[in-house]
Amino acid sequence: MPLCTQTVHQLHAQLKNREITSTQIVASVFDRIKQVDDKIGGYLTLTEESAFEAAAAVDQRFERGEDLAKLAGIPVAIKDVICTHGIRTTCGSKILSNFVPPYDATVMKKLKSQGAITIGKTNMDEFAMGSSTENSAFQPTRNPWNLETIPGGSSGGSAAVVSADAAILSLGSDTGGSIRQPAALCGNVGMKPTYGRISRFGLIAFASSLDQIGPFTKDVEDCAIALNALCGHDIMDSTSAQVDVPNFEQSLVNDLQGLKIGLPSEYFVEGIDPEVETAVHQAIAKLEELGATIHNISMPHTEYAIATYYIIAPAEASANLARYDGVRFGYRSEEAEDLTSMYKQSRSQGFGEEVKRRIMLGTYSLSSGYYDAYYLKAQQVRTLIKQDFDQAFETVDLIVTPTSPTPAFKLGDRTADPLQMYLSDIFTAPSSLAGMPGISIPCGLTKNRLPIGLQILAPPFEEGKLLQAAYTFEQNTDHHLHRPEL
Ligand code: GLN
Repeated sequence: MPLCTQTVHQLHAQLKNREITSTQIVASVFDRIKQVDDKIGGYLTLTEESAFEAAAAVDQRFERGEDLAKLAGIPVAIKDVICTHGIRTTCGSKILSNFVPPYDATVMKKLKSQGAITIGKTNMDEFAMGSSTENSAFQPTRNPWNLETIPGGSSGGSAAVVSADAAILSLGSDTGGSIRQPAALCGNVGMKPTYGRISRFGLIAFASSLDQIGPFTKDVEDCAIALNALCGHDIMDSTSAQVDVPNFEQSLVNDLQGLKIGLPSEYFVEGIDPEVETAVHQAIAKLEELGATIHNISMPHTEYAIATYYIIAPAEASANLARYDGVRFGYRSEEAEDLTSMYKQSRSQGFGEEVKRRIMLGTYSLSSGYYDAYYLKAQQVRTLIKQDFDQAFETVDLIVTPTSPTPAFKLGDRTADPLQMYLSDIFTAPSSLAGMPGISIPCGLTKNRLPIGLQILAPPFEEGKLLQAAYTFEQNTDHHLHRPEL
């Protein structure tokens, strides 16, 4: 099997036994990138030279017999919203097209300390606003399963390169679904950990009360390995949680006996693609067969989640994006004549349509006279949505839903209708508002061979439970083994 097609745990076993080298893995992945990335457009920046240098250094350490971490020597792709020291970080935006961070995000420091190899930065919707990666200022990314379709978003590049074997794993960020939805559409395992589980230091802010970094992997075991490397309190992020980080690999237990799974009626409504519905119901039957008990539950405030998310996220974005003024970061318009026109022109030329729409929506809902009616109300509804989860988790251990109401759609299908695009997040936004962890795992293919994702949600800091359920499902099915024919 070509090295680029393998998982972290498979490659680590061979590295450890010195059957292969990191240099060989990196070479295999870059060969694959050269073969497929013209078609997919998953990468914005490649760091081939430094990747080979880092691989050679890791190989020497293996050579000396050092006992290295599981990610040592493994090629990782990084969503371009995460600051990488000395490597251009655009956030998918013209306004940051020439921004080279002078520091590393905490997750980058953690990956480096493990010996992981950064191979490049992946494409994304501008400032992580979108569900299709069509809002990138640079290029669309195409779904490796069908190049006419979108890979999901906003972390579409990170999802696409993993499913195309153009990275062994990748990092993304999830604010309202941006890891889970593209993972579902590209057939990966994608985890959004509990809010606060992974440091946001160096993650370019979209909506700070929602943003969370997480991994895309080829299987659940790799997801656990990635979480072990990434999680933990960080003094550089005051919202990062001071909770113990378990060894997530210990949750890789093939057992669901006695586990209570809730199915919220609000997530199984009209409008779901029939093939998605069928696959998800088959997955639920499988979970039951494996020993879980299934309970019908209700989460009555679910229907308000999209409206609530699209008030809170743009409001926070409008504040976070105020810093791009042409003075300190990135793009500055050349045509400006004075300070005010410099601000105006840099921002009008530097931001794309969707980002401008969000800034306007957000500024409006925060403005005096409207604050109470929109932002404050949305915060109150957010509390109700969180209470739905708290109550549900009093009776069940996990909640299972479809990740996305539809499989990958065609490029251009939803670009003219923002509301239609926003509805892509209907099943992922509620848990984001509540800060809960969630995972998407492959649970089937449509008759046109497009992946379908199953979402599992858990109470805060119970990622281990997600991993155990996902692992058991994976061990007893073969959905994760299907690969796109590129
Ligand atoms: N698609 C959602 C949005 O456009 C979620 C994006 C995300 O999670 N970053 O806001």
